[in-house]
Amino acid sequence: MAKLNLENVQHHFGAAEATAVHAVGSAGFSLSDGDFLAIVGPSGCGKSTLLRLVAGLVPLRDGHIAFDGEPVTGPSPRRGMVFQQPALFPWLTVERNIAFGARFRALSRKQTATLTAELISAVGLEDFESFYPSALSGGMQQRAALARTLAGGPDLLLLDEPFGALDQQTRAKMQVWLAGLLAERGISALLVTHDIEEAVFLSDRVLVMSGRPGRILREIDIDLPRPRAAGIRTAPGFVALKAEIGAILGT
Ligand code: ADP
Ligand code: MG
Repeated sequence: MAKLNLENVQHHFGAAEATAVHAVGSAGFSLSDGDFLAIVGPSGCGKSTLLRLVAGLVPLRDGHIAFDGEPVTGPSPRRGMVFQQPALFPWLTVERNIAFGARFRALSRKQTATLTAELISAVGLEDFESFYPSALSGGMQQRAALARTLAGGPDLLLLDEPFGALDQQTRAKMQVWLAGLLAERGISALLVTHDIEEAVFLSDRVLVMSGRPGRILREIDIDLPRPRAAGIRTAPGFVALKAEIGAILGT
């Protein structure tokens, strides 16, 4: 059974026919346990909307979304979302922000403390647990946000351009780091991005979406062993895959 399955998912914003925005044309795909699936498409093609539908943050009106065989009816920490802008609570320290992610789990105070410490070390923020988010760099904030989502114990991570707000060098470093972390933990992921290189670097498969209303144009297998090291970005196979996807998108 697929971990996640979408069938003919469409989405319009607004009720009246004449003013409605047709955000997602039609999307259908499935993701197996441990898979990393990326969706690339131009800005405004409905990527965030599609991810919010899977997260249960936008109510589904058309089509079917099943997670572990059950229809998605709302948000769940098992489908943990990471947003483009790190959505940390500014009034909580890094440690308290991360612990907050575990609030729906039946953990004792001691277990929460152990989990939080483990995640702080996994995301490399050991010396910053008592800092407030405003005192961290963008990359560190995004790592803290990811740790908070991981504290909920997700088996599927939903990543909405998670490194889009970071500079190119930090973004490349974070991609290597995320690839290692997910492979080590065997967590499945669904990433949406307009960054072709990011999609190829991280995923097993890339779905290419058209402009709005977004439809899935093609599915490309990224047949390179995971997790990948930074050096693969210049390998001929990697460059060829990037070019192939770029050609479909017309970039
Ligand atoms: P992407 O993430 O690919 O850039 P989005 O899913 O954010 O695209 O948006 C797809 C389309 O839906 C855009 O035209 C956008 O303006 C519109 N849209 C997104 N959210 C809303 C909303 N809450 N209300 C109305 N229109 C929206
Ligand atoms: Mg978006």
